[in-house]
Amino acid sequence: MVLAHPVPNPDFKFPGTPYHSAMPELAEVELARRQWAAFHGNTITSVDVHPKARIYRDCPAPALRILKGKTLLSSNAHGKRMLFTFGPGLHLEVHLGMSGKLSTAPVDHDEHKHDHLILRSTNAALIFNDYRMFGRVMLHDCEDPWADFPPQPQDSKFSLARVRKLIERHPKKPLKALLLDQKACPGIGNWMADEICWRLGLHPGISAAQLDPAPLRKQIRFVTLGALKHVAEKNQTASVDGFAPGSYVANVPPPNWLFQHRWKKGGTCPKCKTDLARDTIATRTTAWCPTCQKA
Ligand SMILES: [Zn+2]
Repeated sequence: MVLAHPVPNPDFKFPGTPYHSAMPELAEVELARRQWAAFHGNTITSVDVHPKARIYRDCPAPALRILKGKTLLSSNAHGKRMLFTFGPGLHLEVHLGMSGKLSTAPVDHDEHKHDHLILRSTNAALIFNDYRMFGRVMLHDCEDPWADFPPQPQDSKFSLARVRKLIERHPKKPLKALLLDQKACPGIGNWMADEICWRLGLHPGISAAQLDPAPLRKQIRFVTLGALKHVAEKNQTASVDGFAPGSYVANVPPPNWLFQHRWKKGGTCPKCKTDLARDTIATRTTAWCPTCQKA
C-alpha cells in the first residue's frame, strides 16, 4: 500500500504553541510507526546515514548498511520504542527521544540537514530526522528482541490482577511516578499521566498504596485507547509533519480532555474551571486541578 506522501516542509520550525515540546508517548510513537509501516513489503535499495550523528551511539552507522537489499516485512511499537522487522533475525529498533520524527517522501527526496537515516526503496524514502539527536537506532539479530517486555496498557494482559500487583509492588510510589514507570505502564509519559490522575480525581502525588486498582486500570485504559484514537488514528491520513500532539499534528484530543488546557497560560480545569496548579512531581512538571483532585 502506498499512501499519499506528506509534503515535507523545509521551513518547519517547532511552533511557539501553548504546548511544550514533549517526549513522544505511546500514541505519538504509534503515529510515527505508521508512517514507515505504509511501506511494508518494500525492499531497501540504499541506506544513507550521517555516521557522526549521536543517534548511532548504540550502533555504528555503517552497520545499518546490512539493511540494503532487505525487505521491510512488518513493524511493532512497544511503549516508546518501535521495531522494524526485515527478517526473522534482523530488526531495526528506533527511539524518537525528544525531537526525532519518522516521515516518508518520494524516493528522490533531497536530504535535509537533520535527516540522519534515510532508507530508500523503489517507491519511497523512509526518513529518521532528529535535530536534537536524543533519539537512537539499534539493530537486533535475534528472533524476538522484545520477548520479555511487560504488557502495555492497551493489551489484554494489562489485567486487573496486573494492576493490583503493580500497586502491591510499589506501595510508596507516588501515583504519577507509578504511571511514568516504563516497566509498569510502558508508553505512558507526562501528558498521559496527568490526564489519568485528573480523570481519577486524585492528586498526582498520592502514594500507590491508597489506590483502588479497578478505577486506576479503567482510566489508564481510557486514556491509552483514547490517545491512540485521537493521535495515531485520526492523524494517519492527515498531512503530518511529525508526531507531537498540539505542536505539529492536525488532530489532538478534544477540549473535554485535560490535554488541551494543561500548558495554556491561565489554563483551567475543563470540568470545574478552577485554575490549574503546577509543580514538579516525580521529576516532571505536573498540572492538576486543586478542586477536582484531592490529596
Ligand atoms: Zn476541576
